[in-house]
Amino acid sequence: MTKKSREEAVPGYSASGLIACHACDGLHRIVDVPAQGKALCRRCGALLYRNLPRSLDHSAALYLAAMILFLLANTFPFVALQYGDRIEQSLLISGGFALQQARMGEVGFLILLTSVIFPFLTIGGMLYLLLPLRFGYRPPWMTPVWRMVRTLSPWSLIGVFMLGLLVSVVKLQDLATIVPGVAFYAFIGLLVVSSAAVASFDPAALWPRIGPVPDQTAASASSDSAAAMGYAVCHTCDLLVRRPATGMRWVCPRCASAVHGTRISGSISRTWAYLAAACMLLVPANLYPVMTVTRLGPAQPNTILSGVMHLIEEGSWPLGLLVFFASFIVPISKLAALVFLLVSTQRGSAWRLRDRILLYRVTEVVGAWSMVDIFLVGILVALVRMDGLATITPGIGASFFGVSVVLTMMAAHSFDPRLIWDRAVRARAGEST
Ligand SMILES: [Zn+2]
Ligand SMILES: [Zn+2]
Repeated sequence: MTKKSREEAVPGYSASGLIACHACDGLHRIVDVPAQGKALCRRCGALLYRNLPRSLDHSAALYLAAMILFLLANTFPFVALQYGDRIEQSLLISGGFALQQARMGEVGFLILLTSVIFPFLTIGGMLYLLLPLRFGYRPPWMTPVWRMVRTLSPWSLIGVFMLGLLVSVVKLQDLATIVPGVAFYAFIGLLVVSSAAVASFDPAALWPRIGPVPDQTAASASSDSAAAMGYAVCHTCDLLVRRPATGMRWVCPRCASAVHGTRISGSISRTWAYLAAACMLLVPANLYPVMTVTRLGPAQPNTILSGVMHLIEEGSWPLGLLVFFASFIVPISKLAALVFLLVSTQRGSAWRLRDRILLYRVTEVVGAWSMVDIFLVGILVALVRMDGLATITPGIGASFFGVSVVLTMMAAHSFDPRLIWDRAVRARAGEST
């Protein structure tokens, strides 16, 4: 009932309208899919939407559980380090503050943002939206809250933090006994529950899946891109919005967000700029030590690669390979993949369009895992503070590496994959005339 009235609130739109693929901008008619089924883009294979029955019930319950686990994980002791009769306890947020004290405030702040603040805002924002909707009310400020959740969720990295924690536990094995606290188990629970919450959420619970009422031209030329038909996707609620008459502001009729044209403006040049900066920072990030370990004797500076070698020498080669993959192979292949995508897009190449869009999607997802080394440094610095016995201090390499990872993630976000298809279509049209 509420669904019906919300659809009618947007004039000119219907549940049997059109929808555009977010990866290639291909135009599709909205059709019913069976329960648990999904609709995929005909051109590039990207997910258009899923049909998750009772998504609102499931995701509201899961986000509520995630919030409880998050609060437990942040109030109780996380892990304790036992060395002889000395015990050092630390909280989840200790890593960020320990780096602040070691005059590496910017890296500490990055850890604090991605492991505590952004996850809190994402889970809290989702609860703010889902709980009232579950009981039949529409919360005020739905648009800004949803926009915040959408912007922050790629930067909330609790899974990556967990991997950093596992690596640090292995690294400390021969130094001291690690006693996991209540917060440690709560955090593992949070990881599982929040992944389930993300998987069970269907955006149609907030913004019903509706599209523009198809007119005759749209119906006959539906293999075109939405932009070619004069539509742009609203970046907040994903509604297709028709280009207004000249001089009028392009505004989404449903969520009142401004629509910024059909493509990310200056996408290619902005992505090149981020990439060049990230590439340059990767050199000092690998040359300078990310941390210095002092343990009963001379200080031992560790670069990213020597840290991997230590892990392998100590016999934990699966973890060593994992860190090598996450902090060396992933950043370099991510840069290479983005350069390849930029060059092939600028040349209007029509070679393997589907695979290139897939490559972009993989690049976007995998990139955040490079943060594992930054979390590792933060956790080790926070845990190992046993004066006279052992200390770990952060190195300048960690700052370079952290900024480089953030810049590569920004490069991936500013690249507009829909240009891959646009340019290929335009190049083909140019050849035939
Ligand atoms: Zn597509
Ligand atoms: Zn909108």
